[in-house]
Amino acid sequence: MPRLENDLTTLGDAARAYLDRTHGLHIGGNVHDTARSYELKDPTSGLVFARAADASAADVDAAVKAARSALAGPWGSMRPNERELAMLRLADLLERHETEIAEIETLCSGRLLANTRGVDVGYSAHFLRYMAGWSTKLAGQTARLSIPYIPDGEMAGFTFREPIGVVGAIVPWNVALGIAVWKIAPALAAGCTIVLKPAAQTPLSALRFAELALKAGIPEGVINIVTGSGAETGIALVRHPDINMVTFTGSTAVGRQIAVDAAGSFKRCSLELGGKSPVILFQDAPLERAIPAAAWAIFSNHGQNCCAGSRLYVHRSIYEQVIEGVAEIARSITIGSPLDKATQMGPVVTQAQQKRIHELIEAGKAEGARVVVGGEPIEGPGSYVPPTVLTDVRADMTPVREEIFGPVLVAASFATDGEALSLANASEYGLGASIWTNDLDRVHHMTRRLEAGSIWVNVHNALDVALPFGGWKNSGMGADLSETAVLAHTKVKAAVHHYL
Ligand code: NDP
Repeated sequence: MPRLENDLTTLGDAARAYLDRTHGLHIGGNVHDTARSYELKDPTSGLVFARAADASAADVDAAVKAARSALAGPWGSMRPNERELAMLRLADLLERHETEIAEIETLCSGRLLANTRGVDVGYSAHFLRYMAGWSTKLAGQTARLSIPYIPDGEMAGFTFREPIGVVGAIVPWNVALGIAVWKIAPALAAGCTIVLKPAAQTPLSALRFAELALKAGIPEGVINIVTGSGAETGIALVRHPDINMVTFTGSTAVGRQIAVDAAGSFKRCSLELGGKSPVILFQDAPLERAIPAAAWAIFSNHGQNCCAGSRLYVHRSIYEQVIEGVAEIARSITIGSPLDKATQMGPVVTQAQQKRIHELIEAGKAEGARVVVGGEPIEGPGSYVPPTVLTDVRADMTPVREEIFGPVLVAASFATDGEALSLANASEYGLGASIWTNDLDRVHHMTRRLEAGSIWVNVHNALDVALPFGGWKNSGMGADLSETAVLAHTKVKAAVHHYL
């Protein structure tokens, strides 16, 4: 059995030095001490490895004030190309600190080092560079006008895209820095300033990122980080009267509460919420690719992906073969410390999450689902959950309806394309869906009718910076990534010029 607990002596010097520091808030470019702090626990052992600052409503207010004055000050007067260059420098710096940041992220979240390197650092640098380019490309429109009640003379109309203002961003732990950068980069490109609250479990990577932003030449007060709980820090941010937009990624329940809280002061909201994304294998699916892809659609990042392929629907002619193939992969997965290169699956983020996942598995068993592999808790101080496959499920079963956010796949067979479509759409969520087939007619038919914001054909969870990523139904409103996200951080001003 590989080692389950992290060996902290394997951490690099930079990560160790950072962890040893006292972690305050990052406000106006300075470390801001708070009256209270809380413990950060290693998910592989439950041991405390650092403390983080717990921001009160007054601390949040100080951060919003810093963001407001940076907007009125140096950042607001910087030219678009200066913003672009600063973002490009930040991308370079992030890559230079790859090991340090990836190790910090892995320690807080339990995610594999390869994943935190590739996604939180690599993808974030790539995304920052893509968004940097938008700084110089935002433009309005011009129009010749014909207003019936102003009959004389000639008029021209213009629109301007202005930054929406101070953005309040709240993010989860499952791709902590990656999602923080999804929020920060389009806001910077549009010329906004930001106050970001990371998830309580994963506050450190965002704090370190904000320090690197200063080094890259992004002025003090543009990026502010307030760490703490959703119940106090998060609510204070959403309700703050001087925030112009709330951008949130997290659960549907919290997203619903945020929409209500933000409505009081008409803040714009972008909400990226939960998912229960189907993977549909038709009878002509390329199985040599589709079976491993179906397994890793759910097991990668230990099932903690918003668009994890958590429901598998397979044509009945290939059902047994596919389930056996996925189960074989599940049995072969190496579980262990996420700092260890040989590990393929680490712990889930907390013991509370581990407990919830097992409750959902037990609910499925009680409702008649069959456990093909996994399903039993892994004893020990770490919050490990084995890769689990539940088959012969019905749409009304608890683990089929609810987002589990762990390495648990539910699977069922179908006989016709129509049945596959209704099984896939029978969910309150609509984040992503993948279909596996070589039949072009079927591809078009299904792509049009599946109720989800992203449809993938012969691939799953393929998120490109150039395409919007947002949910339908209870998976949210608005979208991250692409030009869509930049425009969401602007407000439009229309101007009329009546020639003399
Ligand atoms: P939560 O919704 O519990 O928390 C997300 C963030 O919101 C955390 O920072 C949390 O603080 C904060 N928060 C909690 N309550 C409030 C509140 N009332 N007001 C303001 N902020 C609050 O989600 P999880 O952290 O458990 O993350 C998992 C969820 O995120 C899953 O549902 C997943 O599908 C979703 N997700 C969606 C994605 C998408 O793009 N659609 C991408 C990734 C994840 P605290 O740390 O104290 O809990």
